[in-house]
Amino acid sequence: MNNEKILYMVVPCYNEEAVLPETAKRLKEKYSSLIERNLISPESRIVFVNDGSKDKTWDIIQELHNSDSATFSGINLARNSGHQNAVLAGLMTVKDICSMAITMDADLQDDINAIDAMVEKYHEGNHVVYGVRSARNNDTFFKKFTAEGFYKFMSAMGADVVYNHADFRLMSRRVLQELANYREVNLFLRGMVPLIGFQSCSVYYERAERFAGESKYPLKKMLAFAVNGITSFSTKPLKLITTMGFIMSIVSFLAMLWTIIVKFAGASELGWSSTVCSIWFIGGLQLLALGIIGEYVGKIYAEVKQRPRYIVAEFINNSEKEEKEK
Ligand code: UDP
Ligand code: MG
Repeated sequence: MNNEKILYMVVPCYNEEAVLPETAKRLKEKYSSLIERNLISPESRIVFVNDGSKDKTWDIIQELHNSDSATFSGINLARNSGHQNAVLAGLMTVKDICSMAITMDADLQDDINAIDAMVEKYHEGNHVVYGVRSARNNDTFFKKFTAEGFYKFMSAMGADVVYNHADFRLMSRRVLQELANYREVNLFLRGMVPLIGFQSCSVYYERAERFAGESKYPLKKMLAFAVNGITSFSTKPLKLITTMGFIMSIVSFLAMLWTIIVKFAGASELGWSSTVCSIWFIGGLQLLALGIIGEYVGKIYAEVKQRPRYIVAEFINNSEKEEKEK
């Protein structure tokens, strides 16, 4: 049983001025009902993390905090650090003042009504509750196809992720404290959280369309995210190269036998097309292999530098616990 009840919502926001007021309003309503049902305590807060937005997002967050500091807090990052880093910045900032934290997108695609079930599961003793989308009725065929392909490809490549779960999840303080020990710079939270362990479960929800504004994840960023996920969590691509090299060696050995046989059969003027083809094929394979190795070398480079993953410029929060500590 988990008895403590301080819930901190962590909501990363990058140029979200169009949805933020609505998100704030709906989350506040949800908080009121959760407090009424005694599932969370009144010290719970909603923390918006401004990830270096270029629009009025931070102004809106400050306004929310000023008008209702018992509900809204804000974190201002020094610059845009990307979704994963913004989420981590939020989680690490609140990890000592909350009993549980839920991360959620600002665009209302994650179903706010799933929060009840998440908190209930937490009280039943779960330390991690994954929000899993049950249907993709609202996605375009393309998004559905690429997104589901992403999960399948990820697991084929050996990165253990929860199918159809993005970054809508609850984590207990205990899990957050363990997460703080994962020092990697190439963040892929949905791969890291299952590695921490502890009792976990899933709640299912239907993902809605973005309420307003545009997706900040165009195809290019999505592909980069997938490559990052795989290379951060699996060395399987490297092993595949070895297998490929092995198969190629066998094939070329057979080809050698074949040329010898053809030569002794006396028909040796053939050979141009097979030579040219194999040069291109082997060249392509080598480049691919180098590319994959390059991905990993690049990662090692980023990891050894140990640069900070985010920089918090400001944390506006009025929590009783914090004030006591001051
Ligand atoms: N986001 C962020 N930093 C970024 C890009 C996105 O904090 O550099 C936030 C964004 O404000 C949103 C969430 O990450 O709350 C998910 O982004 P989005 O909805 O654009 O992605 P999609 O749902 O289209 O995959
Ligand atoms: Mg979205």
